Amino acid sequence: MKPGKVYLVGAGPGDPDLLTLKAVKAMKRADVLLCDDLVHEDVLAYARPNARVVHVGKRGGAPSTSQAFIERLMISEARSGHIVVRLKGGDPMVFGRGGEESEALRAAGLDFEIVPGITSGLAAATELGIALTHRDSSPGVIFVTGHRSAEVRSEVEWAALARSGLSLVIYMGLARSSDIRQGLIDGGLAPSTPAAVVRNATRLDRQAIVTTLGRLADDIRAARMQSPAIIIIGEAARVPGLAQARSIRAA
Ligand code: SAH
Repeated sequence: MKPGKVYLVGAGPGDPDLLTLKAVKAMKRADVLLCDDLVHEDVLAYARPNARVVHVGKRGGAPSTSQAFIERLMISEARSGHIVVRLKGGDPMVFGRGGEESEALRAAGLDFEIVPGITSGLAAATELGIALTHRDSSPGVIFVTGHRSAEVRSEVEWAALARSGLSLVIYMGLARSSDIRQGLIDGGLAPSTPAAVVRNATRLDRQAIVTTLGRLADDIRAARMQSPAIIIIGEAARVPGLAQARSIRAA
């Protein structure tokens, strides 16, 4: 039997209008979709009605479908001739295990294609009017995980990042915001450095707070901010319109 093909597809940060046309085209071809839980429900409307949808994500701490199982399923479906779409939140290669999955597909000798998506860190900043790069204040940006896990083995050197002078976009950082704050302050960032936290970026239930590095952990707690959220730290987050509005809710 002729093997099928696998598309590793970035479904964007939330709002289905931020899907790429390429993602939609891949979904329309799919016989099977393996869907992460950060993917907006409405995105699946682009799948064919008779396509099989398998939800394989996990939500903070909840039992998850194992990575090995997902890879096995993806490979066996493609080997039996199916077009498989592996749908991931944001971009598949940004904290999305797309690296591991593409290696597994290559090792299996299967045809596959990777479709980029808008990563949530970028979307969170841009939709609030935060310019992560700016001629006057930030020559660049660092995407970094705040989560310490088996997946990312080495601890981030927060003090070194503090000295970089770049905007920091932190994924999965809520639970460790207190340690991150301390690491950055130890590295020399002023407690008054602007910070923003955005939950459910680009979704209707978006929640954002604007604060400072020094107050980061306290304000996250006070706002009962939960995952999935992005933390942005740096001069970039000093946006005039945002400074007054400490808590912003999308209409
Ligand atoms: N591949 C994804 C990231 C997956 S890791 C991407 O490119 O966006 C999961 C983390 O992404 C979450 O813990 C959170 O930090 C972030 N995230 C994903 N979607 C988000 C959203 N809509 N709003 C805020 N943060 C989000």
